[in-house]
Amino acid sequence: MEPLTALARRDISHHFHPYSNAQAVARDGPLVICGADGIEVIDEHGKRYIEGMSGLWCASLGFNEPRLAAAAEKQMRVLAYYHTFSGKVNNVVAELSAVLTALAPTPALRAGKVLFANSGSEANDSVVKLVRYYHNAIGQPKKKKIIARVKGYHGVTVASASLSGIPAMHTHFDLPMDGVLRVGCPHAYQFAKPGESDIAFVDRLVIELEALIALEGAETIGAFIAEPVQGAGGVLIPPSGYFEKIQAVLRRHNILFIADEVICGFGRTGMRFGSETYGIEPDFLVTAKQITSGYVPLSAVFVAQPIYEACAAASAGVGVFGHGYTYSGHPLACAVALETLKIYEERDLVGRVKALAPIFAAGIAGLGAHPLVGHSRSVGLIGAIELARNRATRNPFPPANGVGAYLVQRAQAHGLILRVMAGDVIACCPPLIITEAELSALFTRFEAALADTASWVAQTYG
Ligand code: PLP
Repeated sequence: MEPLTALARRDISHHFHPYSNAQAVARDGPLVICGADGIEVIDEHGKRYIEGMSGLWCASLGFNEPRLAAAAEKQMRVLAYYHTFSGKVNNVVAELSAVLTALAPTPALRAGKVLFANSGSEANDSVVKLVRYYHNAIGQPKKKKIIARVKGYHGVTVASASLSGIPAMHTHFDLPMDGVLRVGCPHAYQFAKPGESDIAFVDRLVIELEALIALEGAETIGAFIAEPVQGAGGVLIPPSGYFEKIQAVLRRHNILFIADEVICGFGRTGMRFGSETYGIEPDFLVTAKQITSGYVPLSAVFVAQPIYEACAAASAGVGVFGHGYTYSGHPLACAVALETLKIYEERDLVGRVKALAPIFAAGIAGLGAHPLVGHSRSVGLIGAIELARNRATRNPFPPANGVGAYLVQRAQAHGLILRVMAGDVIACCPPLIITEAELSALFTRFEAALADTASWVAQTYG
């Protein structure tokens, strides 16, 4: 193993790493990234990596788009900060709000409003508060519980982590908080019964949802939250018909739909919004990440018109709508978002994702044919392979074997950054600007890492 560099030593001495195995980082040191060139990032030794995860599913325009740098610089010089409280606003957030509502996928959202925050977590946290506010406003004060799904990922604040269905986000944090109900995850490979068809699997999930609502009482349930494609849970793509049937049940019981599009929003699935890909008509649509290509923190919640109207009316009674962040609608973030959205339109990035999707899907399916892979899946430019000890029985490797982590390490050695998620799922979510030639290089490196892993598994575990 290479000796740790001075920078790596400084980092591990002083930095409390998020989402890392702290002891492993302290032992092995972090990968220190210092520069970028399009879809590649460059480490402190000058080694280049194709960033196959767009960082954390966000850098849609790569890592050094000059137009975004120029937009940020210009805004910093003109008006670096102004807030949005007490009847004041900056000109940039006013413009962005209008641009965003015009892009919204449904009439109710287009007629509604956009509420800004700084991260996906804060945005979902805000929605939890809005679900409460709205139901108090319309005289249904018991209708507050939120249904969330196994393997959902909605962020790390107390409320958004509670909605998330990933055990490591709860352990030692005394979460989830009260008021969160859980239903199953529509990942047939792991959760369908042997021989169960997709239709029968979906119907079982619908029955489960109906039973939960009957048990708890629809009058106590305010909302249901779902990512159109579950990202951090393992790139879990719903079977066809899933959202249509789930949505019908929710409508029948007046349960609001929160679409968490923090990953899917702005083109990832081949439509502007995942809600369009899956026919969802949400009451809240939550975006972040690709709204600024990840360059500046910003999140935006689209709130449907009737919900906004009820909240606005109720706030009149209080005298103020008592929610907002110092940095809600920060002009720097909004200026970068406006430029990002302009680039998306000019370069027709949604059309580009649609055009590249079959090539991406073929690459993922090619990996899926390897004996070490139990399942592969993709939509638009997001996909994953799920490793299996035994393809036929879908038996995973024991987590302690670290097979997925090994693959990701080998990919890194080959100049490709991927990410492993629980269950040895290897995710891939490249920048939306990736070219066909770059995709081909990405898959060549991915295949090499998979081949290395297969040899290592054969030697180590027979
Ligand atoms: N929701 C989804 C679907 C996400 O993938 C994430 C982060 O990956 C979040 C919410 C939380 O966003 P943030 O990390 O910006 O708080």
